[in-house]
Amino acid sequence: MNVLSNRAKSLKPSPTLAINARAKSMQAQGIHVISFGAGEPDFDTPRNIKAAAVKAIEEGFTKYTPVGGTEDLKDAIINKFQRDNGLTYKRSEVLASCGGKHSFYNLAQAIFDEGDEVIVPAPYWVSYPPMVALARADPIIVETKEENGFKLSMEDLKKALTPKTKALIINSPSNPTGSAYSKKELEEIADLAVSKNFFVISDEIYEKIVYDHFKVVSIASLGEEIRKRTVIVHGVAKTYAMTGWRIGYAAGPEEIVSAMSNIQSQSTSNPTSIAQKASVEALGGPQEDVAKMVTAFEQRRNYIVDRLNKIPGVSCFKPIGAFYVFPNFFSYYGKSYQGKKITNSTELADYFLEVARVAVVPGIEFGADPFERLSYATSLEDIKEGLTRIEESLKNLA
Ligand code: GLU
Repeated sequence: MNVLSNRAKSLKPSPTLAINARAKSMQAQGIHVISFGAGEPDFDTPRNIKAAAVKAIEEGFTKYTPVGGTEDLKDAIINKFQRDNGLTYKRSEVLASCGGKHSFYNLAQAIFDEGDEVIVPAPYWVSYPPMVALARADPIIVETKEENGFKLSMEDLKKALTPKTKALIINSPSNPTGSAYSKKELEEIADLAVSKNFFVISDEIYEKIVYDHFKVVSIASLGEEIRKRTVIVHGVAKTYAMTGWRIGYAAGPEEIVSAMSNIQSQSTSNPTSIAQKASVEALGGPQEDVAKMVTAFEQRRNYIVDRLNKIPGVSCFKPIGAFYVFPNFFSYYGKSYQGKKITNSTELADYFLEVARVAVVPGIEFGADPFERLSYATSLEDIKEGLTRIEESLKNLA
């Protein structure tokens, strides 16, 4: 008898979280590791948000809530879409879940079947292909190029379409590259989705973390036809430094949202009641702390991109949003350290961790081996020190 299901056997832990755990365990052993691992803002959750949670506890708001979130949270989500994206949703078209990842998981379970193809542009966030596969659909990886700003070309997208194409995943701004689509580019994608009749899963979790006055547009806002074919996946984790609170949300056609709610009802039930109250405050309360965090991220981005591009043989795309850089280290592959050859992003990441004491996530985990991902949601001081270590360790490769 097989103990594990085939599904479980083919699954490995999320590499972003695994790297984080590895860095933390080294730190616990007293090793000074600089972590550019998981994308987690180093800021504390803003005070007003924490106060809302404390109030919820004090008032005994500690019981089951409706599966897809309380009415006040749904209204806060609806108001956010109206205010920021000009999108009008009803309560039956939005759902709160236990993190953006959970929203995506529910969605995959709700709309994918065996034989469905889901287009995943690479570099992609590490959990998209496994979550598509867990829903028994086939992730179809379409590569993008660094020189095109890591954006999907319409030509490549069209080539990847088949009668089995059920959906396209877009993540703008993107984890891991920080690239983002303009309104015009999204219009082209939307036109194709409507004419070829496939869904768009739009992961907008980094919407608020953008630089150089870039204007984020939600593809769902580009017309009624595309709105009917789009499910937005979002969450409070990145914007409000609330990664541990686990509140994500989704918005889309009622039929899909209702199926997602059924899946949630049979698995996790509602997301944590207290975290829901905190999220109402996050979405509807003062937004000044977000602006402060984004200003700090922008300063760090400028620094990190500049320094990486000064390292011989390294190129780094300047992100428009999110808090990751995705530098290309390909010119170092084939070099050796103490007789051991480094041939790919995993071996280089291991070298950085073991020798330089710097944690990065290998590009291969995002479907792009020439690269490493560095999260700059960490202090400028650590960024400076981490880059010095990377730079020095690269000099030791021959
Ligand atoms: N999304 C973040 C990252 O890519 C957090 C970890 C995860 O869920 O993957 O680092």
